[in-house]
Amino acid sequence: MDRPLNAARRSGYAGPVQVAAAVECPFCGQHFELSVDTSVASQVWVTDCEVCCRPFEVRVECEPGTVLSLEIAAS
Ligand SMILES: [Zn+2]
Repeated sequence: MDRPLNAARRSGYAGPVQVAAAVECPFCGQHFELSVDTSVASQVWVTDCEVCCRPFEVRVECEPGTVLSLEIAAS
């Protein structure tokens, strides 16, 4: 007997691709969360700290639904 549910799961991930990732500001040490679009496998962007407003670089490696690695660098 065929199992359509399992087949659908195997054919591709269909869950949410926006994942909250915890980061730490390289300037003031504040921890906060960023929303990461995990549908993009590898991405780099610059964001501002929510507390001290200094810009830093965020580098993430993803697979859909999961953040594989996340690095922070002072830009
Ligand atoms: Zn900061």
